[in-house]
Amino acid sequence: MNPGVLQESGRSVHRRLKIGIVLNLLFALTELVAGLAAGSLALLGDAWHNFGDVIGLVVSWVALRQVERPATEHKTFGYHRATILAALGNGVALMLITLWIFYEAIRRLKHPELPGAAVMMAVAGIGFVMNLALAFSLRRKTRDVNIRSAYLHLLSDACVSLGVVAAGAIILLTGWSLIDPLLSLVIGLLILVGSWDIVAETLNVLMEGVPRGVDVDRLLQAVQSFPEVKDTHDLHVWSLSSHVYAMSCHLQVADLPVSQGNQLLDRISQMLKERFGIAHTTIQLEADACPPQEACSLNALEEAVSPRNR
Ligand SMILES: [Zn+2]
Ligand SMILES: [Zn+2]
Repeated sequence: MNPGVLQESGRSVHRRLKIGIVLNLLFALTELVAGLAAGSLALLGDAWHNFGDVIGLVVSWVALRQVERPATEHKTFGYHRATILAALGNGVALMLITLWIFYEAIRRLKHPELPGAAVMMAVAGIGFVMNLALAFSLRRKTRDVNIRSAYLHLLSDACVSLGVVAAGAIILLTGWSLIDPLLSLVIGLLILVGSWDIVAETLNVLMEGVPRGVDVDRLLQAVQSFPEVKDTHDLHVWSLSSHVYAMSCHLQVADLPVSQGNQLLDRISQMLKERFGIAHTTIQLEADACPPQEACSLNALEEAVSPRNR
């Protein structure tokens, strides 16, 4: 995936995403056809990797459009989660493809086939130039951590392409065809690591986990550093999609007029947006500590509806 581009603003991101999708798709198709024609598992493996990248870019593009799309009466959260489901499907599909690559690589190690080295070198050479050019175009843009990970991904893609060129050269010079399935094992491992990352992150979102990069202890400290706040409880931090974070909590405060409570909420929301990137907050102000038996927390709610209390 290439989530970094979402951090930028404006139409240029839409355009660059579309260019990235078209370029990657064309290249993946070329690799697929060339890999089948030349009988190179390394090329085929990299083709699947690039199809995965294409889906990741499409998911980012859709996610970007979702942010602008309003929620509806029936989907009050909008369609942010749809991108998470798509990304999860992509990650699982890539893992299954890795199994196929491993199976095929082991089969070819036992029964070597001689792939067309010239085709391997030509196609992978194009991939190397393309990935390197894309990587360096990102490098100039920003120091954002997401863009940096997209840059590293493109750089590792370029290294894989360079590896396929080298494998083609070795086959051409020495006729040692085992280098092709051996290299495809390395490519399979790279795909596995990348897809594991996607699956872990999407599962964390679906489990309403705390988003990566948000430290709940620091968040609590920051909220409690407001002098009006006496206590915090029933805190929940989750993400709607990989880029839209939400938080809800109860704050025990002094008995304030409503207008002062509003000002406090504005200041806290602003702080949460700036320091933790949390755009959607729901905060409940309470003058007294809430009684443990009331449905103030999920645990209390669970007790209230559990069979033994019915
Ligand atoms: Zn890639
Ligand atoms: Zn409460």
